Amino acid sequence: MSILKVARIAHPLLRSPAKPVPKEAFRDRLFQKLIDDMRETMHEYEGVGLAAPQVHEGLRLAVIQVPGTDEHPEAEVPFLVLVNPVVTPLSEERENGWEGCLSIPDLRGLVPRLKRLKLDALDRDGKPYSLEASDFFARVVQHECDHLDGDVYVDRMKDMRSLTFIKEFEDHVKHDEE
Ligand SMILES: [Zn+2]
Repeated sequence: MSILKVARIAHPLLRSPAKPVPKEAFRDRLFQKLIDDMRETMHEYEGVGLAAPQVHEGLRLAVIQVPGTDEHPEAEVPFLVLVNPVVTPLSEERENGWEGCLSIPDLRGLVPRLKRLKLDALDRDGKPYSLEASDFFARVVQHECDHLDGDVYVDRMKDMRSLTFIKEFEDHVKHDEE
């Protein structure tokens, strides 16, 4: 496995709609290796999700893994592969939450996202699955699926004044919220 180079914004791939993964890809050793490498890259940079365009592959593929916390062990999402994902809102309710992105290093911003959604996708063997996601998991799904359409979280921010560097977030913002 290898750690892949992560594209940063202004790279054209991050602004281009990704192509659907074709059926024959699932049997391709290189496609399976790409998934393993994306998993390792996500772990290396302590991300909770990574989309293929972020590692210079214009495919509708993303990986997600969210660790549980002491306060919210139920928030844990085991390693999940999303191929050709489709998101359907389960309610129109949206919630503001903090997001960052490995392709926009060192920054965070408040982004309104759907609170509940249905995800339909294929797994790494091409098998279809469907699940419901809410709260932070739903946020990560929306963030990663946006990458497949050439969108990034700052495009979704309603108030750019919340944009902050991570260091200043730790120093000032987190304090105020506690
Ligand atoms: Zn991102």
